[in-house]
Amino acid sequence: MTRAIYPGSFDPVTFGHIDMIERSAKMVDELLVSVLNNSAKNPLFSVKERVSMLEEITNHLPNVKVTSFDGLLIDYAREMDASIIIRGLRAVTDFEYELQIAQTNRIVNPNIDTLFLTTSLEYAYLSSTIVKEVASYGGDISHFVPEKLIGRIYEKYNNKES
Ligand code: ADP
Repeated sequence: MTRAIYPGSFDPVTFGHIDMIERSAKMVDELLVSVLNNSAKNPLFSVKERVSMLEEITNHLPNVKVTSFDGLLIDYAREMDASIIIRGLRAVTDFEYELQIAQTNRIVNPNIDTLFLTTSLEYAYLSSTIVKEVASYGGDISHFVPEKLIGRIYEKYNNKES
């Protein structure tokens, strides 16, 4: 059985992430979508909120499970018995950093490989940062995230302002 991990901040999840999840879920028996609890990043959504949003938008995919983790991804992958790490590449700018991480991870654990999927063209520009930027000015984010998450994202900015 092949188990893969698709790790990320998902703060918040976008159509770009969803596209990656749907495509990679087809390639493996089980896909763990794992939210990194990174205290350094000062996220907009708590890990619990991010997990819950991911669960909602992946509930049509029976082989996808949403989890969260602290610490080193490569250790978590081994702990979960996953042999593949999935990462997305949007632009050349993603490449250098991702290559370095993937190579480091292979030195730490050569049994776990990183699989890169190139972004679908329609989402090449899309990032969680862009969504937050537009939402913070009250702009239209319906092209970036599923409709049912829009209210929750705007709410964060209203709460912050009040
Ligand atoms: P991280 O903080 O780990 O970069 P993100 O939540 O920003 O977490 O992204 C998680 C993964 O999803 C990364 O591999 C990233 O390259 C990929 N990703 C993000 N947005 C897109 C997109 N629009 N298309 C394809 N992959 C994407």
